[in-house]
Amino acid sequence: MIDETHDSSARSFLETDDRSDFPIQNLPLGVFRRRDEIGHGHIATRIGDQIFDLSAARRTGLLADADGAIADACGETGLNRLMSLGRAASRSLRRTIFQLVKAGSAHEEAVRRCLFPVDEAEMLLPAQIGDYTDFYASVNHATNVGSMFRPDNPLLPNYKWVPIGYHGRASSIIVSGTPVRRPFGQTKDEKAAGPEFGPTKRLDFELEVGAFIGKENALGTTIAIDEAEEHLFGLCLVNDWSARDIQAWEYQPLGPFLAKNFATTISPWIVTADALEPFRSPAASRAEGDPQPLPYLAAADGRGFDLALEVWIRTSRMREAGLAAARLSSTDFQKMYWTFAQMIAHHASNGCNLRSGDLIASGTVSGEKREERGSLLELAWRGSEPVELPNGEIRRFLEDGDEIILQGRCSREGFAPIGFGECRGRIANDS
Ligand code: MN
Repeated sequence: MIDETHDSSARSFLETDDRSDFPIQNLPLGVFRRRDEIGHGHIATRIGDQIFDLSAARRTGLLADADGAIADACGETGLNRLMSLGRAASRSLRRTIFQLVKAGSAHEEAVRRCLFPVDEAEMLLPAQIGDYTDFYASVNHATNVGSMFRPDNPLLPNYKWVPIGYHGRASSIIVSGTPVRRPFGQTKDEKAAGPEFGPTKRLDFELEVGAFIGKENALGTTIAIDEAEEHLFGLCLVNDWSARDIQAWEYQPLGPFLAKNFATTISPWIVTADALEPFRSPAASRAEGDPQPLPYLAAADGRGFDLALEVWIRTSRMREAGLAAARLSSTDFQKMYWTFAQMIAHHASNGCNLRSGDLIASGTVSGEKREERGSLLELAWRGSEPVELPNGEIRRFLEDGDEIILQGRCSREGFAPIGFGECRGRIANDS
């Protein structure tokens, strides 16, 4: 549903430059706190380098035109209540905000009193995340990883039938900028007689996209595939940090556990499903000979997100030398084998209730080409093809002090480009 909020000629009275991820056409939602403030956060949107505090806007009557439940939800300390109101509510809030911040707004003076510079804000998790599920929706990633362990038979027979996922852990989801401690764990060298316990030697990132659940489904009910996007509030970037040596030893037979749940970083601004409307494209087509999805996963109009993703690295030595981050990978979210609608419909297909604020991650996003791989495991092919950085450093896996920065941006002819900001995390030096 394209409306006036997507008009590429729309401008805010707040200045944004053309490269900003946050022009008036984006209007993402997040939760911030002033750096000098103790206590809870405030729901806000962002235009350029300015945060527009929606809780302050509500207090001063600026949201009076919005539905009472929507305005009240903006006074909460997290986005869960707003998410629970469904797509019509978030669309309505988007239109209200748009009218307030557009050039020529009658409320410019009052809006300006609710602004706060991004540089002086601390971003918090945007919602209370009750549950976190990580899927495995990139067939290229699944094929790459599978072929390292089963060269003759990389894809398991269920892959093209069932969206594979596992239950992750919500308590260790952290917001961009939070340092990551190198985890300890049990690992076993192939040649060693027994396992040892110590810091992981194979720390990795995973480039992923996250979807926040909006409207809930009750326990025991399902979500029809063609209604699944009604339950999709918006997207963020996700780095599913992974300890490959711990994973290799622990994963059989029940899947990932401590190799994954020590930290998962997300970008702080949720780009709403409505903001992403201009950047939809047909779901990636299945190869000839692939099975058609079972009816409960077959959408009348399967749509993906045309979202360009990048991974950057900045090591301690690069920082000391004043060097900028180097790009490790560049790929596109459009090529995923399973769409978020399919992941949501599948997740609820057994009657599992999805709750507002639950996070569903896509799994590592990898393309077909080498430079499109979304993890170091794949880029350096399990350590056998080390990655050389522009300053001559070599990486098989991450070292202490390495910082990984994920970025995502949508662009399409005729529309204003929008972006996700950064999902950033540095491996602490003190581990
Ligand atoms: Mn993952």
